[in-house]
Amino acid sequence: MKKSNRDGLNRRHFIRTTTAAGAGLTLAGLGTLRAGPEVTAGSGKPAVLGGTPLCSSFPKWPVYDQTEEEALLQTLRSGEWFRGSGKAVAGFEKAYAQLTGAKHCLATSCGTSALTTVLGALDIGPGDEVIIPPYTFVATYNVVVLNYALPIFVDSDLETFQIDGSKVEKAITDRTRAIIPVHLGGSAADLDTILKVADKRKIPVVEDACQAHLAEWRGRKVGTWGTAGCFSFQASKNLNSGEGGAVLTNSDELAEICYNFHNQGRGKQTTGYNFSYSGTRGSNLRLCEFQGSLLVAQMKRLEEQSRRRSENAEYLTRMLKEIPGIAPARMYDGCTRNAYHLYMFRYLPGPFGGPSRDKFMAALRKEGIPCSSGYSPLNKDSYVRNLVKNRHYRKIYSEKELAEWEQRNECPVNEQLCAQAVWFTQNMLLGPKEDMERIAEAIRRLQKHAGEVAKI
Ligand SMILES: *Cc1c(COP(=O)(O)O)cnc(C)c1O
Repeated sequence: MKKSNRDGLNRRHFIRTTTAAGAGLTLAGLGTLRAGPEVTAGSGKPAVLGGTPLCSSFPKWPVYDQTEEEALLQTLRSGEWFRGSGKAVAGFEKAYAQLTGAKHCLATSCGTSALTTVLGALDIGPGDEVIIPPYTFVATYNVVVLNYALPIFVDSDLETFQIDGSKVEKAITDRTRAIIPVHLGGSAADLDTILKVADKRKIPVVEDACQAHLAEWRGRKVGTWGTAGCFSFQASKNLNSGEGGAVLTNSDELAEICYNFHNQGRGKQTTGYNFSYSGTRGSNLRLCEFQGSLLVAQMKRLEEQSRRRSENAEYLTRMLKEIPGIAPARMYDGCTRNAYHLYMFRYLPGPFGGPSRDKFMAALRKEGIPCSSGYSPLNKDSYVRNLVKNRHYRKIYSEKELAEWEQRNECPVNEQLCAQAVWFTQNMLLGPKEDMERIAEAIRRLQKHAGEVAKI
């Protein structure tokens, strides 16, 4: 732990007082040297009211050492920088397929291009509808509109933060060509419900698992349940090569179409200009060898990091759910492993005792705890609403269709979720469990002084 304590309370003392208190649940008031039995949880003054901040730093991201340096140098010196001639990307694909239990893995230049590849392979286009959640990163939406299809938002489930599976069927029409559930934050969407509906209506499911590396549904990796699963290796993600992505699928046919699409429509079993095109469209969405070799190296850390995130997140949840007004995101019963790309909870000012979410978050930051309010309602953003003014959309869809589209996109639960959510990032879960105790303690002491914090 790289924490300093400005009051001179050293780490050994901190650990002694916390373990003596049992399970760290009744932390001695940090910021005071009086660690006697009269000091109870939440006794310290919040930093926002002049107390000593509880946290000074969290683990940095990305994590790397000589393993990554050597992998990159090896690629550099090999002169094979492009997947066509090198071994790193192919090696990564094999390893990631093995790790996830998928039959095929295709590496792509990013998570967005993984989704683009699958939608391209499924031939999604103008006039088609694609079901997506409103509580997601904008890429899930962008890949749909880049194909001039209509994105149909299905409302969120307040408790889990995921797409509400029970509302998917009602959103399906005879134009629905794909459903893209997102495993948001690294937890899992309700795959039982979604896959059942999709099966019945014969609609492909494209899992957006960009935040959910190693997450599992009923003991099997997410991204391997649907027609295809898409992952991102962008810098913030739990597996990182700066930019990068992958498609998983168990279908030989889809795997081949995806490969060709991401390779300018050009087939694989060829050398030089001795190749054949397939399909009617394609692009260059390839991962390069540097990224491939970086991923192979980073993958060695993934299991251990994921385990640590889970342990810390579960510990934090046990503490936070005891605090009135703090509601950690619930997991569906089927979610047997959460990747915890984000630690998400809802903050309810009423039960907590007063401060608005903004004030609560500002006070947390004063404690040295970075946090964010997460996504704002995507379906309400002018970026999305202006779609009805796009000249191509006005050619493809009638005035009536576009007006109806706006009405269909109402997601009242999601608005409530966006107003209540608070996030911590995955790197904050990579330190010792004492970090979790400090976060919980910070929130407890904010609650104890909620009335005063609300007035700031
Ligand atoms: C990060 C992310 C993407 C896009 O991945 P990039 O690698 O940034 O293109 C798509 N969907 C979700 C849910 C994401 O979090």
